[in-house]
Amino acid sequence: MGSRLQFLTVLTAVVAVTAIVPTTFSPPASAASPAAAYQLITAAATGALGADSAIACPIPSGSEFVDSWGAGRSGGRRHEGVDMIADRNTPVAAVQSGDISFKQNRLGGNAAWLTSPSGNTFYYAHFDRFEGESRFVTQGEVIGYVGSTGNAKGPHLHFETHFGGTVGNPYAATYAACVEPVLDATQIQADTKRFEGHVAVR
Ligand SMILES: [Zn+2]
Repeated sequence: MGSRLQFLTVLTAVVAVTAIVPTTFSPPASAASPAAAYQLITAAATGALGADSAIACPIPSGSEFVDSWGAGRSGGRRHEGVDMIADRNTPVAAVQSGDISFKQNRLGGNAAWLTSPSGNTFYYAHFDRFEGESRFVTQGEVIGYVGSTGNAKGPHLHFETHFGGTVGNPYAATYAACVEPVLDATQIQADTKRFEGHVAVR
């Protein structure tokens, strides 16, 4: 009789806890390390751009940009990159490891071509100045600083992606590298708070 009462008491407690747990809460697939699961979100993971298309953010400290692929430019040109607005002298990073080649031209000003071992190329324009000489750089290494050299109205980075040698809209890859990690970090914080609340109920 005593043990049945105990059992009922426990059962009632379990039911009560179950009822309290918010139905909206769903723990991450990998509850032990949610951060690792979120970090897998890249353009490559979504399959939008094919293999080897995961890039690091060109301006790790933050920038503002919109999708301006194909927008009209002077001389009947179409925009083939993304313009990332940031303060002058903001460090710019190599988005993949590869050979960086610094060159100056009329439109791009202080410009750079980065070529990865797999044949992807990335074009950077309007640097205020380069960091070092043309060389092999590793992903994330600082290669220059935001400026307005060449055909630029204000300080910004013009950035192009040529995956497999073909120029394409860099917005998705840039968004995945620069914006999604920030959003994910916010989500992780929110999930952590909810998870802590969930534990406290028990
Ligand atoms: Zn541009």
